[in-house]
Amino acid sequence: MSDILDVVKNRDPQENEFHQAVSEVMESVKPVLEQNPIYRQSKIPQRLVEAERIIIFRVPWMDDQGEIQVNRGFRVEMNSALGPYKGGLRFHPSVNLGILKFLAFEQVFKNALTTLPMGGGKGGSDFDPKGKSDNEVMRFCHGFMSELFRHIGPDTDVPAGDIGVGAREIGYLFGMYKKLRNEFTGVLTGKGLNWGGSLIRPEATGYGSVYFAAEMIATRDDDLKGKTCLVSGAGNVAQFTTEKLIELGAKVVTLSDSSGYIYDESGIDPKKLEFVKMLKNVRRGRIKEYADKYSEAVHTPVDPALDHNPLWDHKAACAFPSATQNEINAKDAQNLVNNGVVLVSEGANMPTEPDGVDIFLQEKLLYGPGKAANAGGVSVSGLEMTQNSMRLGWTREEVDNRLKMIMKSIHQTSLEAAEQYGTPGNYVNGANIAGFVKVVDAMLDQGLV
Ligand code: NDP
Repeated sequence: MSDILDVVKNRDPQENEFHQAVSEVMESVKPVLEQNPIYRQSKIPQRLVEAERIIIFRVPWMDDQGEIQVNRGFRVEMNSALGPYKGGLRFHPSVNLGILKFLAFEQVFKNALTTLPMGGGKGGSDFDPKGKSDNEVMRFCHGFMSELFRHIGPDTDVPAGDIGVGAREIGYLFGMYKKLRNEFTGVLTGKGLNWGGSLIRPEATGYGSVYFAAEMIATRDDDLKGKTCLVSGAGNVAQFTTEKLIELGAKVVTLSDSSGYIYDESGIDPKKLEFVKMLKNVRRGRIKEYADKYSEAVHTPVDPALDHNPLWDHKAACAFPSATQNEINAKDAQNLVNNGVVLVSEGANMPTEPDGVDIFLQEKLLYGPGKAANAGGVSVSGLEMTQNSMRLGWTREEVDNRLKMIMKSIHQTSLEAAEQYGTPGNYVNGANIAGFVKVVDAMLDQGLV
């Protein structure tokens, strides 16, 4: 599949993360393309890697000192064959077009796997909410939406949260959309419960990643009870991954943020997790404070000079990378294997570098790629859209049961597709192939648009 990768690299040479995502999917779907010549004849690969539309815009806003700041806003509307564009907004200084294109590309196949009618998109800004006051975040979100509102809508494009965009940001974004359009609609997901949000949406990505892990480990007649788990990140996905793991009787010993990680050999219990939630969601402090409060925990700062991340170098049975892309390199992957890890479920998007993925596959780990394992978030976003359309809200149990069913079905579909194309147990191939076939068949049905 080097031909399409060459096209992508020549066209946008600096977009490394996008090349990485395209390369992985195209490698997986080689046998599908060989068995179905119509896909190549219809230039499906070329059409898939080109976004339907990309919007880039200026976001000027005023900080608390009265200084004008200027950030860049993006929305990548990648593919709408299966439904309105759907995917989160990321606010982080590292955000650029290549990262958002990789996330939007992944989102297309992930959303197809959920069985819900959603296309794929992603957006965000290089704005850094860290260290900003609530008022500054509000002014930025309002400025961002004062342009984005023209391009989105409940039947067109429905953004949600991602890194740096949580309940607070979704609130400010929704407020400005509603004012400009004079409409109260389900244009964003992750909304507050009392103004159109869905129960279980905050929990969905983390819970879903654990449900997916439970399905994987059940194929080896085992379960998560009593398993020691490494979790990275300390944000939305990491918190609810930890919560569900504790509930299922597993022991979580690590959490991290961009300044380092904590190792708590005695395990994070519900009270300690409550502290993390307050620390990260309300006080917006650093994970080091966990080790300041609980003397049994050790904090290790990030050392960028190291060729590996020491978080992944502890004895454990399972790993749940839940921070960001490319946080596990080949050395980390080998350390995980050497330390007894048998299962990796990716809460984050593309957290493992390609060489690391190769090691997981060679070693026959139960390896759930983000596209499948973290699809719970967008699934409940889809359920939030359904509830908004019906103008009613389901109970916690109802949404949680639907989430479980969807994760089970994604697991089964991925397993079956992997088996059908000759790589049994390979969830990477399985997820890529199952998502791909669904999207491209819809594209063929809809003609050359
Ligand atoms: P949050 O902003 O809530 O948390 C992100 C966490 O990861 C924080 O602890 C943050 O540390 C850390 N982090 C972010 N960037 C870096 C970096 N460059 N280096 C080290 N640590 C970093 O985001 P989410 O929990 O929502 O998202 C985490 C991952 O899950 C992302 O890959 C996202 O795309 C993916 N995801 C999220 C979904 C959702 O529903 N929220 C759905 C599907 C996937 P710090 O606080 O220091 O920045």
